Parts: sequence; C-alpha cells; structure tokens
Amino acid sequence: MKYTTLGITLFRKCNANCSICCFESSPKCNESLEVNFIKKYIDSAVGDKYLRNISFTGGEPFLDYNLLLELVEYTTKKGFNATTITNCFWCHDL
Ligand code: SF4
Repeated sequence: MKYTTLGITLFRKCNANCSICCFESSPKCNESLEVNFIKKYIDSAVGDKYLRNISFTGGEPFLDYNLLLELVEYTTKKGFNATTITNCFWCHDL
C-alpha cells in the first residue's frame, strides 16, 4: 500500500465530549505523547517514497497551540506538508 499521510494523535484531551468519538476523547483525558517521541517518529518517516503529509490530531490539537506550532514547524523543515484535524472550536467569525 502507498500511504501518503501519517496521522499522529498528540493527546486525547478535547474540549468536546462526543458520544461518537472513536478515541473516547473528552476534557478529562490526560494521556499524551512526549514531544521528543513525536519528533523521532517524524524523523523515521523521512525518506519514505510516498509519504507527503503529517497530520496532527487528538483529541483537539489546538488545545496546546504552542506544541502544535512547534510540530508544524518541525514537520515542514523535514520536507512534509503539515495538516491538522480540529473541531474548529477556536473559529469565531465565519
Ligand atoms: S476528538 Fe472530535 S469526536 Fe472526539 S470528542 Fe473531540 S470533537 Fe468530538
């Protein structure tokens, strides 16, 4: 199989608590990946023939905006596109 996107669940914490959530995320969840582990994981993807995108999700990845920015910068420096999956709680103007 030719995978073009690698998804990384940063943590399970979410501002929402949806009954359909496949990660069972909620505001009470505290599990998270350590930042250096995430960077090593991204490093291990460098050189993959088909991989183009690293996608950060959770939980809600924008709950730790500084971490998200740090990882987006790290990802793009490694030559990948950075994407995120969010519930857009931060969006106030449409
Ligand atoms: S991660 Fe998505 S589905 Fe899960 S609780 Fe948060 S908003 Fe809902």
